[in-house]
Amino acid sequence: MLTADLLRELTAIVGANWCLDAPADLMAYSFDATPLYQHLPDAVVVPGSPDEVAAIMKIAYKHRIPIVPRGQGSNLSAGTVPTQGGIVLGLNRMQALKEIDQENMTCTFEPGLVTAKLHQAVEALGLFYPPDPGSMTVSTLGGNIAECAGGLRGLKYGVTKDYIIGLEAILADGRTLKVGGKNAKDVAGYDLVKLFVGSEGTLGIITEATAKLIPLPETKRTMLALFTDLTGAARSVSRIIASRIIPATLEFLDNATIRVVEDFARIGLPVEAGALLLIQQDGPESICERDIARIASICREEGAFETRLAQNAAEEAALMTARRAALSALARKKPTTVLEDATVPRKHLAEMVEQINLIAKKYSVDICTFGHAGDGNLHPTCMCDERDQEEIHRVEMAFEEIFEAALRLGGTITGEHGVGESKAGYLEWRVGPTGIEVMKGIKSAFDPHHLLNPGKIFARETRRRVVVRR
Ligand SMILES: Cc1cc2nc3c(=O)[nH]c(=O)nc-3n(C[C@H](O)[C@H](O)[C@H](O)COP(=O)(O)OP(=O)(O)OC[C@H]3O[C@@H](n4cnc5c(N)ncnc54)[C@H](O)[C@@H]3O)c2cc1C
Repeated sequence: MLTADLLRELTAIVGANWCLDAPADLMAYSFDATPLYQHLPDAVVVPGSPDEVAAIMKIAYKHRIPIVPRGQGSNLSAGTVPTQGGIVLGLNRMQALKEIDQENMTCTFEPGLVTAKLHQAVEALGLFYPPDPGSMTVSTLGGNIAECAGGLRGLKYGVTKDYIIGLEAILADGRTLKVGGKNAKDVAGYDLVKLFVGSEGTLGIITEATAKLIPLPETKRTMLALFTDLTGAARSVSRIIASRIIPATLEFLDNATIRVVEDFARIGLPVEAGALLLIQQDGPESICERDIARIASICREEGAFETRLAQNAAEEAALMTARRAALSALARKKPTTVLEDATVPRKHLAEMVEQINLIAKKYSVDICTFGHAGDGNLHPTCMCDERDQEEIHRVEMAFEEIFEAALRLGGTITGEHGVGESKAGYLEWRVGPTGIEVMKGIKSAFDPHHLLNPGKIFARETRRRVVVRR
């Protein structure tokens, strides 16, 4: 609980409408898109400018109050659940698109700007900001930066870290740090811009960012390839890339996901298909045509029983929207949806999906898998019911084994959703004790009293590694 005096000080900074401590407000900010995690904050403060952020941080620093920065709370790793109380700092009031610099091909914005709004604004000028998380119509760019969000275009265009070139951040003690800018080249000292990308709100509060833009591709073509089983789909992924074609999008849905998505979106997906690849290529018209024809023939050679080309922009949009709706569609099946983010080198895609299916069977849990096949980034998603503790225990055991399997194949515990609190116990499995030590040193240099998003990234205890013999 914050004292009445502290609440008065915070209210004086942001105004009465933006400092909230009514029970219903605290409840609304006690959870995010991650199931199984919830904790009430002591207050929610929503600043309207970097100066207000700095003033709030100074108070929090003086009184050692935890600060949990929050965009739209759409993260999937419990990254904004205030599990140690304190202040939830809502950044979505600061949402100005400050500049699109067409000569430098950069844009500068506040952290609360919604990702899709930036897409619309730059695309109207023939420019392109590629990172496109499935949540892009709700997520903020501040949240994308703090998670290093990926998306459907990651294979060809990279992820958030490949575009952010400048930042302003307010540090734990209220000082302002400005790093990077519009320069295409800048190697003056450590790359603090990249350090902030993916820092999950644990190093400072991002109050402004500059991203590089690229020219908007001239056109795009979208197709589906339908397979009886996942092996043909996975082999197609490897062969497409081995033949030196990098599609803009190369997404995978297993049979269970196809069924649920079709039931949700009603766009005529064949529910009997064992696996589906959704493929998009963009660029000059002749290159799109050539690549899509080549991709279709590779898929057929690898056993696709059907390939379908979207005939117009409406069909193409329906396919992409259906893929982006996969999580929402799956969430309708059972009360609790646990979506994970295991990632492997793409040549191990088929093996990883097989492992996931075996593990789901072993623990009698209901797991569908979809994801960014071209990146080897899979989202095994478990439909369960958190009121059934015994089932939740089996779900946890299954995901532990899934992470273990991903690491055994040279992969990682998270490709794009971040560590947050839900995967903190597994981080050491991926980076080792030295990695943890170095990261903790960086954390302490920025935030000596560990007030910024405490409990995220670093666990009190590393999970014991499961030993699986196969
Ligand atoms: C349906 C659905 C689909 C999704 N698809 C994808 C996908 O394809 N790819 C992908 O990568 N993710 C995806 N996500 C996950 C999520 O949307 C992303 O992690 C997104 O970047 C979070 O943005 P947000 O504004 O909701 O941030 P939040 O959830 O509010 O915050 C995320 C993290 O950023 C920190 N943070 C937020 N703002 C700031 C700031 N200004 N300064 C410092 N730290 C800050 C928070 O403390 C937290 O650690 C999906 C989620 C859903 C629900």
